Amino acid sequence: MPSERDVMRDATGTPPAENVVETLTQTVTQTVPQTVTQVQAGEVTAESVTQRSLARIAALDGEVNAFLHVARDQALAQARAIDQKRARGEPLGKLSGVAIAIKDALCTRGLPSTAASKILAGYEPPYDATVVARLRAADAVIVGKTNMDEFAMGSSSENSAFGPTHNPWDLTRTPGGSSAGSAAAVSARMVSCSLGSDTGGSIRQPAALTGTVGLKPTYGRVSRYGLIAFASSLDQVGPFATDVRGAARVLGVIAGHDPNDATSLDAPVDDYEAACGRSVRGLRIGVPDEYFSGGLDPEVASSVRHAIDALRDEGCVVKAVQLPHTRFAVATYYVLANAEASSNLARFDGVRYGLRAREGNAGRDLRAMYGATRDAGFGAEVKRRILLGTFVLSAGHYDAYYLKAQQVRTLIRRDFERAFEEVDVICSPASPTPAFRLGEKTDDPLAMYLSDVYTLPASLAGLPAISVPCEPVHSGLPVGLQIMARALEESTMLAVASAWEARSPARDLLPPLAGRA
Ligand code: GLN
Repeated sequence: MPSERDVMRDATGTPPAENVVETLTQTVTQTVPQTVTQVQAGEVTAESVTQRSLARIAALDGEVNAFLHVARDQALAQARAIDQKRARGEPLGKLSGVAIAIKDALCTRGLPSTAASKILAGYEPPYDATVVARLRAADAVIVGKTNMDEFAMGSSSENSAFGPTHNPWDLTRTPGGSSAGSAAAVSARMVSCSLGSDTGGSIRQPAALTGTVGLKPTYGRVSRYGLIAFASSLDQVGPFATDVRGAARVLGVIAGHDPNDATSLDAPVDDYEAACGRSVRGLRIGVPDEYFSGGLDPEVASSVRHAIDALRDEGCVVKAVQLPHTRFAVATYYVLANAEASSNLARFDGVRYGLRAREGNAGRDLRAMYGATRDAGFGAEVKRRILLGTFVLSAGHYDAYYLKAQQVRTLIRRDFERAFEEVDVICSPASPTPAFRLGEKTDDPLAMYLSDVYTLPASLAGLPAISVPCEPVHSGLPVGLQIMARALEESTMLAVASAWEARSPARDLLPPLAGRA
């Protein structure tokens, strides 16, 4: 048996091959809470956990493209500092030595933060997002920044300026989006958890497509200070993890009031982990008819229904609920999100951050420089959204589109209020289909937008929602069960999620690629 020291040296330098294999396989089965327990007990060092994560990234990411930037030196230095802290007998945080990956939409001090856009190429923020600072304070180790759709606009990662991420379950398919790299890195067990952001489904849909747990908190539960803004009335940061408890642990660390974010709620943070494993007997589950029709893949439908039946066996009461305005969610979202994006993205003009165009006409005057920079820096989908957003806000169209969409948003929120008078959580599919092929929807923006048909309503209503793996379809691709709850009732949602996870046939399934390294 190699000692911990040997293992560390192995991963950095000249290892005997079998030690590396052993080291790498160990990571595959470890959850966030398990790693923390081992690091705190001194059974493994934070440095060795980090080395394992870096070794898996090195072995697998050539094919997956989950990372835009691997922070090797910074991560190792951070890990060593944690080990020294332990050696001095100081108490360690709730994420001691856990290797975590961060979506590139979040600002990380001294590390590139580009939101996968050329316009922010080379940008290194002078500060950490609040969530990142909280992770560091909890002794997590940031191993890198993950790939995504440019400015979080997309459902497949194909809008990244740096090439798409590939789904570890089938490299010809998308891991979903926009938090593609954060989902794929967890799915391939390069890390046991990561952070994503979810505006209309960007945590839940990729979690469903990669067989990981992905949680979007209540609007305002988690600070967005340092999140590169897409649509500010919708954006939330949340965790991905290999299991429900891992997601609960990370949520507990990042949740809570932040004076730097005026929308963050000053409400007490529950003990989310304590909710995992709690009895769900007597809890009422609503199943909305509107989510089981239309373009829903029949195999996804039966997998999700099977999960709901299993929860009934656990003592939950299952009943039908109506969310009649669901069919307006996609249209409402794309008016509001684009309107907000057109305003948020106005700041990228070549003056303060990243790219500045200098060629051709760009030198003529300030306006020409703005235009040339934005033309060169933004990808096609981002431009489409800025144009649509500017259109719906413009004089003469504002009432017909923007104002109308705000009114429909209220109706969607009221649907949920009514349903939650009768039930405690609402269950549905997270995505209408399993992972689709890369290239399959790139020519059809509407087909791509429909990937979010089941995640958008909770976003518009500001409610918490989670995707938990359920039985895969026959081809082996993962399926996600979405559980939505009342505002600030993440604990109820987590109790149901962990009750299902304990019985889920997907519980111990790993993508073939994960076992290869
Ligand atoms: N896929 C949706 C969009 O393209 C949602 C993205 C997100 O949640 N960031 O806008």
